Amino acid sequence: MPLPEKAFLDKVVTGGTCNGCGLCVGIDKSGKSAMRETPDGPRPVIHQENEIPELIFGSCAGYKIDYPKLYREFFGRYPESWLTGIISNVYTGYCTDEEVRRNSSSGGVLTATLSYLLEKKRIDAAIVVTQGIPEPEKASVNIESTPKSR
Ligand code: SF4
Repeated sequence: MPLPEKAFLDKVVTGGTCNGCGLCVGIDKSGKSAMRETPDGPRPVIHQENEIPELIFGSCAGYKIDYPKLYREFFGRYPESWLTGIISNVYTGYCTDEEVRRNSSSGGVLTATLSYLLEKKRIDAAIVVTQGIPEPEKASVNIESTPKSR
């Protein structure tokens, strides 16, 4: 029998593989869970009465990913900052679809990338967090399965 959502997420956090993405808190319909700052970055505090859907079992980015091992084997070293990881190169860019670009932050790069992956059927859907909705200091979570650009 699978662990309940809270036990599952607590295990990810205590296991040290939570990357602080905030997805679990974002999709908790109860609104009772929250992210808190820790020396390792933001981590979720899952409320006992959470209403986190089962999709978290397949969507939590920290589950089964051993980041220290990944860094050791892929880069041969740990990052200076666990928040940014190892930065090999930095690029700038923007989406060439004017409408997407104007309705996105950071030039619409992530929207364009996710749209490409959806169009090419490399992914089934993307769970995206939209900042500033419903209120300026809050964020909302949506599951997108339709490309926004071409
Ligand atoms: S969904 Fe994100 S924030 Fe929640 S436990 Fe997994 S990695 Fe951490």
